[in-house]
Amino acid sequence: MPFILRSRRVLTPEGVRPAAVHIASGRISRVAPWDDAAGGEPVVDAGDSLVMPGLVDSHVHVNEPGRTEWEGFATATKAAAAGGITTICDMPLNSIPPTTTAKALALKRAAAASGAVVNVEFIGGVVPGNTAELVGLRDAGVKAFKCFLSPSGVPEFPSVGEADLRDAFPVLARLGLPLMVHAEDPAELLPGGSTSRYGDYLASRPVAAERAAIAQLVRLLEWCPTPVHVVHLSSATSLEIVRAARARGLPLTVETCPHYLTFAAEEIPDGATEYKCAPPIRGGAERDGLWRALLAGEIDLVASDHSPCPSAMKATEGDFFSAWGGIASLQLSLAAVWTGARARGALPERVADWMSDGPARLIRAEGRKAALAEGFDADIVVWDPEASFRVDPAALLHRHKVTPYAGRELYGVVKATYVGGKVAFGRI
Ligand SMILES: [Zn+2]
Repeated sequence: MPFILRSRRVLTPEGVRPAAVHIASGRISRVAPWDDAAGGEPVVDAGDSLVMPGLVDSHVHVNEPGRTEWEGFATATKAAAAGGITTICDMPLNSIPPTTTAKALALKRAAAASGAVVNVEFIGGVVPGNTAELVGLRDAGVKAFKCFLSPSGVPEFPSVGEADLRDAFPVLARLGLPLMVHAEDPAELLPGGSTSRYGDYLASRPVAAERAAIAQLVRLLEWCPTPVHVVHLSSATSLEIVRAARARGLPLTVETCPHYLTFAAEEIPDGATEYKCAPPIRGGAERDGLWRALLAGEIDLVASDHSPCPSAMKATEGDFFSAWGGIASLQLSLAAVWTGARARGALPERVADWMSDGPARLIRAEGRKAALAEGFDADIVVWDPEASFRVDPAALLHRHKVTPYAGRELYGVVKATYVGGKVAFGRI
């Protein structure tokens, strides 16, 4: 049913202005002046709320099928919609089977088909010995590939070494799809043990591991250029290598995550395993460096790396090494990033650059997603950047509610989310 969504603040490709977004058949048919309701369609008036392209989260672990008790498409996508996210990209691991063959992708698609309330795209896996599967995965519609340079945390998704990458790179270059890389060099990681001290965990995964891994990727790119995307960058100091590689024209992009932009190692209490992720949350200086780089346009996008697990796997009597590494933040990532951006004097439209436009470009959806313009999908978030809320874990729609954001005051309240012109969350 066609309708008009209007507000005094609509983020259009020309900037924020009063406008009426005309929606029909799941798409935007035109963006008209605010009082243009010619045609007589029903008008939904969002007042002064910001109407913006829905967010695209290019890094989400849904875990279904196989580990649906950790999360699932129904719960993950409900949380996404509540957080203003209209498209998620599901990572190839933590589900069983992992998405390393076209056959496994078909199982994923079937799982997502029943129960997802936002768009779901898929990332294929690159693991030792599966180079022959990559063409089939591309043909079946994956938007990118993902690999780990250090152990992934699950046995069925092994990490790759130099020889595996030398096998895969020429194939990826032909396919033209980006390779997303978990960039930590296993040779630089220190052995674990048992500790409730956050500092011990942090020291076991030093910045040197991230730097060495990125340097290895740059060497491979010089040998065979193909789009490579470093996921969840945790240290601003590693950006030096990225900058130099880009200056030489190498196709290297990079993302960071809400938790690296929000928290700082020195503020993490001992035993607080809800903060555990890999690479780890580093000190305040690195956090501030990531912000400077993000504001300067040196980081391409922000993705959640939503990586949930059952609460018991996080509650390990405070032992950082045996706790699952991952932070579930689909529902909070818009507010977390906006809160930090706002404190640094940025405008909300920058959030759209980092969390909608940037990820849409990565998955080559920029002509269809991430803009409120004629012909684009009607994937829209309506939110109030000036309103704040205190994070109550009980209000999270993720399957498991453990969160380091508990009790935190965040700016940015999502009022409604539309996916293909249909309400996926909230009401106006
Ligand atoms: Zn991840």
